[in-house]
Amino acid sequence: MKLTDHFTLEEMTVSVSAPRLGIENTPSSHALGNLLRLCTFLEQVRSLVGGPVLISSGYRSPALNGAVGGSTNSAHCKGLAADFIVPNLTPKQLAQAIADSPLEFDQLILEYDKWVHLALADGPLRREILTIRKGTGYLSGLV
Ligand SMILES: [Zn+2]
Repeated sequence: MKLTDHFTLEEMTVSVSAPRLGIENTPSSHALGNLLRLCTFLEQVRSLVGGPVLISSGYRSPALNGAVGGSTNSAHCKGLAADFIVPNLTPKQLAQAIADSPLEFDQLILEYDKWVHLALADGPLRREILTIRKGTGYLSGLV
């Protein structure tokens, strides 16, 4: 099912762990509404970088999130966060491009130099920018 021009519900709910663990990963109608908002935002990211945005993780049901060790307050569980990469940009270049843009987000995290986590929020958008690496915990900014 298409959510926006370039994003489908299937790619926003994909998980290698869910079928393996027999865990349901179907969003509620509220989470689905959030995913629609998130994909509308990701369309702007797509325009910014001029090419495809490859999602590695979008929505995670609370059960799935627990199984993969996600944080309890994860925006992924609300359908408000996605992890992604873009071909031809390093994750850091991608994060920098989003940070330098006027896009309004809640949290942008460069994770392990492997992908970018981008989240919206129910409340005010903080435009918080962080980096996490093995052993460092969260660091302020893109470092
Ligand atoms: Zn994430």
